[in-house]
Amino acid sequence: MGRTEFSKGDGALPDKVTVFDDDYPGVANLDAALLAALRTAATDAAEDGVKFFVNSGWRSPEYQKRLLREAVIKHGSVEEAARWVATPETSPHVSGNAIDVGFEARAWLATHGARYGLCQIYANEPWHYELRPQAVTDGCPPMYADPSQDPRMRRA
Ligand SMILES: [Zn+2]
Repeated sequence: MGRTEFSKGDGALPDKVTVFDDDYPGVANLDAALLAALRTAATDAAEDGVKFFVNSGWRSPEYQKRLLREAVIKHGSVEEAARWVATPETSPHVSGNAIDVGFEARAWLATHGARYGLCQIYANEPWHYELRPQAVTDGCPPMYADPSQDPRMRRA
């Protein structure tokens, strides 16, 4: 048990959990529309032999808080940590609106994601996807360089 060991109920996921594993709150607590889009995409990706593993999905505020604390230690300052990890108040993971996918899914979504409304949001996080329904017709919006550029991340 390391300090990054969190409980299943906080949204922590073991290796090899897929977008179909409802048993894990980290998957089941995702926004229903996001989860539906992911499952449709994953079903199509399976035909290409690609599996959608989930590294992180929904997270409890406590889990997010600990990730942020660890990021501040790792990156040396609150400002630098903010380029990688959001606060419990602003994180789209805490609200169930973001997913960090495994390597194979990442490559597949980079090519096909927009068709399902699944978009990479931050240039520095090729694993982080959110639902942008308009992407189906308009393509994905331009990416932010990193989360600190995202207006949603600014606290009032
Ligand atoms: Zn993420």
